[in-house]
Amino acid sequence: MAKFNRYLITAALPYANGPVHIGHLAGCYLPADIYVRYLRAKKADVKFIGGTDEHGVPITIKAMQENVTPQDIVDKYYKIINESFAEMGISFDIFSRTSRQVHHETAAAFFLKMYNDGRFEEKESEQYFDEVKQMFLADRYIVGTCPVCGNDRAYGDQCERCGTSLSPEELINPRSALSDAVPVKKKTKHWYMPLQDYEPWLREWLLEGHKEWKNNVYGQCKSWLDNGLQSRAMTRDSNWGIKVPLPDAEGKVLYVWFDAPIGYISATKELTPNWADYWCKDDTKLVHFIGKDNIVFHCIIFPAMLKAHGGFVVPENVPANEFLNIEGEKVSTSRNWAVWVHEYVKDFPDQQDVLRYVLCSTAPETKDNDFTWKDFQDRNNNELVAIFGNFINRTMVLMHKLCNGKVPAFHADVKDAKDDALMNALQEAKQKIEDALENFRFRDALQEMMNTAREGNRYLQEKQPWILAKTPELQAENQKLIDNCLHLCLQLTANLAIFSNPFLPFTAKKICHMLKVVDRMLEWENAGSLKLVSVGYSLRPPELLFKKVEDEQVKAQVDKLHAGLKKSAAVTTPATPPPAPAAPPKAEIQFDDFAKLDLRVGTIIQAEKVEKADKLLKLLVDLGTEKRTVVSGIAMHFKPEDIVGKQVTLVANLAPRKMRGIESQGMILMAEDNGKLVFVNPAEMVSPGSGVS
Ligand SMILES: [Zn+2]
Repeated sequence: MAKFNRYLITAALPYANGPVHIGHLAGCYLPADIYVRYLRAKKADVKFIGGTDEHGVPITIKAMQENVTPQDIVDKYYKIINESFAEMGISFDIFSRTSRQVHHETAAAFFLKMYNDGRFEEKESEQYFDEVKQMFLADRYIVGTCPVCGNDRAYGDQCERCGTSLSPEELINPRSALSDAVPVKKKTKHWYMPLQDYEPWLREWLLEGHKEWKNNVYGQCKSWLDNGLQSRAMTRDSNWGIKVPLPDAEGKVLYVWFDAPIGYISATKELTPNWADYWCKDDTKLVHFIGKDNIVFHCIIFPAMLKAHGGFVVPENVPANEFLNIEGEKVSTSRNWAVWVHEYVKDFPDQQDVLRYVLCSTAPETKDNDFTWKDFQDRNNNELVAIFGNFINRTMVLMHKLCNGKVPAFHADVKDAKDDALMNALQEAKQKIEDALENFRFRDALQEMMNTAREGNRYLQEKQPWILAKTPELQAENQKLIDNCLHLCLQLTANLAIFSNPFLPFTAKKICHMLKVVDRMLEWENAGSLKLVSVGYSLRPPELLFKKVEDEQVKAQVDKLHAGLKKSAAVTTPATPPPAPAAPPKAEIQFDDFAKLDLRVGTIIQAEKVEKADKLLKLLVDLGTEKRTVVSGIAMHFKPEDIVGKQVTLVANLAPRKMRGIESQGMILMAEDNGKLVFVNPAEMVSPGSGVS
């Protein structure tokens, strides 16, 4: 009994301020596409919604950096992003933009309905204002010194060196990123959504009602709810975005995380006049595919908005993925440590399915995972070429050679246990793939698909039709065995086209072409059937489905990655998130200012991770006469066991600060080389406590 009669599948809206990289693909677009292709093959009523998020601070910052208008930026990147997805076969029914009229109208009406129903609190607060530029500064526009690691280019919302989440108030010496002026506090009015009012409903709907959600998603939501929700401003001071549709709201726009998810609704409206069937009828299954950084917005804030507005379905599942690292390092668009999709399709023409295969095989479904070019090569050469491609190629070649290029008959009188075993394996595989896909376990489903090809190879190897054909005196008898073997192998090939279609759509089409069957064969109801290609039907000659990836190609890609990294450090042409503007030289100081610093060399004698803070290490530093506890945001750069015994330079007279409940009594000096942190220490070992001057 199907509870749902239609599906509405969304994939996170990427910011139109940079191209998409393979981490984006692996995180949500590929899994969403696999799921949608499977649903379409099941002939489900499904709409797949995507588009670009064209509002918000990252867009305006990028525009300022490139000295163009925000509109120029979003036009440029919408095109690149849209093409990248199309080339990779991400089969959106619509790929819209939040700058379109339909979205401005939809989002404004959504806000107004909530406003008229009394869903907002109007509050005045003090926010940083740039008197030179005459504008309020979003957190990202404020830079200053990170209180945790001392990075003097930390943002008002986060330090990108140590990863600590910050508020502008926590920055030491805050400055405007636009004018370098010291910002002043000024009163401003905004509309807040009291999220705490929705907490009982969220607990019932999500924590009680959706225990089946992925652990990483459920756990994050639970911890948000357990920490208590607060009112959150749903408007911002800016001139780029959707204007707040109220008379007294000059210079105010909707918060980008208020408007962006409404973009799913606007895009559906743009796609079909029947959009309300998908958004307002209870028998719709709404699924949001996102990366883990967007969980709170899709599982808490947007559902609360939908609930507050009323009349909409809420998500049935939010299968968020973790992050994909590249060659062992976190993707960083600002450092250009990324594999860009639009470059991949140029470097590997007609090999989209290889990337789709590798990204699905290593998808960060339950934890962060790593992409390496070596693994890309291995999976292509050892799995796609050697198992999947090899089975289908051998089947086609042997059929042309031993069966005159026509689908041979199946002779039930000589059927044996091996034939039965293969047929059973096919039925089991179908069931397992279906279960895995229904439950968002795409890696398992893909592996099962590959195992089916593996079974095919084993079967061919056991049957050895080429040997059967080599004994002329038994030719007539053996032909029946040869026929049975290749008949089954051809039916299996057709099934592999159906199984692989959600993952490898380009390959599935090629197989259909070779088998001279129409795409309709790929419908899921045909999976498991042994009557997919008809006896006596003549087939096309085999074409190679996959080719080897050579060592030189791997080397070229790894070199490109490293070369790109250096280039970006020199020229600074970053995408999201934007880097801090180049730090201006600091003002001249007098010797007296310098002399105020008490710098001392100490030895790290203990180091441990700080619980629930993956960036922080708690260090005990021996200064000879005393030992100091120092909390340092270097946990992403050093393992505790590697740094015990190292000498470091400590700012010993910095006022103590509490971090995660631990009093930090000093700050360790670090040199930063292109994102890599290095301790500043004397050229030779010195006694702990030695002064530096
Ligand atoms: Zn920091």
